[in-house]
Amino acid sequence: MTGTAAREDAATPDLLDAEPLIARGTTCLRRLGLRAEERVAVLLDNDPTTFGVLAAACLEGIVPVPLPGDLGGPEADEILADAAPVAVVATPERARRLAARHGRRGPRRRTPPPSAGPLLHAVTPDDLRALPPTDPSASWPRTRPMAYTSGTTGRRKGVHVGVHDAAWGEEVVADEHAAFDRRHGDRHLVVSPLYHSGPFRFALVSALLGGRIAVLPRFDAAAWSQALRTLRPTSLFCVPTQLHRLAAGSDDLTEDLASLDLLAHAGAPCPVPLKERVLRAAPDGAVWEFYGATEGQFTTCPPADWTAAPGTVGRARPGRRLVVRRDDGSVAPSGEVGTVWAHVPDHARFSYWRDPARTTAAWDGDAFTVGDLGHLDDAGRLFLAGRPGDLVITGGVNVYPAEVERFLLGVPGVAEAAVFGVPDDDWGQRLVAAVVPWPGAELDAATVRATLARQLGRAKVPKDVLVVAELPRTPTGKVRRAGNALVELWRSGA
Ligand code: ATP
Repeated sequence: MTGTAAREDAATPDLLDAEPLIARGTTCLRRLGLRAEERVAVLLDNDPTTFGVLAAACLEGIVPVPLPGDLGGPEADEILADAAPVAVVATPERARRLAARHGRRGPRRRTPPPSAGPLLHAVTPDDLRALPPTDPSASWPRTRPMAYTSGTTGRRKGVHVGVHDAAWGEEVVADEHAAFDRRHGDRHLVVSPLYHSGPFRFALVSALLGGRIAVLPRFDAAAWSQALRTLRPTSLFCVPTQLHRLAAGSDDLTEDLASLDLLAHAGAPCPVPLKERVLRAAPDGAVWEFYGATEGQFTTCPPADWTAAPGTVGRARPGRRLVVRRDDGSVAPSGEVGTVWAHVPDHARFSYWRDPARTTAAWDGDAFTVGDLGHLDDAGRLFLAGRPGDLVITGGVNVYPAEVERFLLGVPGVAEAAVFGVPDDDWGQRLVAAVVPWPGAELDAATVRATLARQLGRAKVPKDVLVVAELPRTPTGKVRRAGNALVELWRSGA
């Protein structure tokens, strides 16, 4: 049985050949009469058939706009209004709710003019499984999903790469293959929502390299452990929160991870002690990190790079060059924190959907930035320092929360940490930390502060340390820094 408290109802997903999934997705889209360059919003559950629809759209050059099914009404409406899809493929329940709000329904097109709003098409996984297969028109993707960023720093943005010929897709897949040394014919387990760019991209590359796919319907550490031990997947992508939950509940992490040749993680900082534990438990060479965003990928970090410099997110991906710039645009020397830019190949170009001003601000020639701060070491390894909005200026000293968080996560008993500033008459901003203990660990604020005081300058030692049961997080597992969630946490605990 699994090492975590396995749930009786956590059925292990099936490992399926990707080709028929994509062929049935193609039939679904053809029946809707969708044409290349049109957009189709996808509001389906995490299921292999959803993967098939998304992948088929990419091969057909139809731009899928994947949306989380649990997005609240106004948020989904905002994205749908922005993306203006020709059609929406949704679960019957979501299609009903959308129809109630928008007064539109499906299922077959094209009588209504596009200006009347999207056509709603309700399908279940069983409907999709029952479709006859159709060969897609290309063997390589011609576009990728227009995913919306998670909105950690404010309004969500649609990331659009346009529609290309299949040679573009072949390059994209080759690039991914080179960055992670992807194997042909692997067994890939999807553990995160397919509407995010990372999980879908890893699954698509597995599929196009002849692999098989299994999809966990929702994240649950016990179900994940069970799927790992039963399906023996060879590759997966996850975020650090998921690794933390798996590690915290597992009686034998080595057994959980034994079959993997590639465990890729990204999306948020991975605490050093957690990463050390995962590296010890996983097969040699399997644990790769990368730093990327919905917009694109910047680095890869094979295990040896991380072990040589714990806390790094790696070096520039093949075919890319990283530069850290100062505010005046000049190149910062190694060791100095500035804005991270990546010079990328042509096939990695994107724009923000219907937002030329934002697109112009993100690009400079062949380089783009998503605004993260960081520094490079002499070996070209990148260390992230957060976003400019996270910077805390306390008593006139600039403190990057990410740096203090790295040290906090090295304090025995600390499982998760968030460092932030709260308004303070004396300090301008008062440095505060919220920490979550490992299960069973006793933490007290004074000990945490004393441990940090031995390692960091005075200004970087948080004035208040709150011990909390959990941190406010976005659905992607990132600490929620937008809005007032962290300040409210401090107010309620202060
Ligand atoms: P928005 O742009 O709307 O504010 P977001 O940036 O959170 O949302 P995503 O594209 O989901 O949207 O997340 C990308 C961000 O996640 C990166 O810019 C970076 O800040 C963070 N990130 C990604 N990989 C790592 C990593 N390996 N370590 C630390 N942080 C990471």
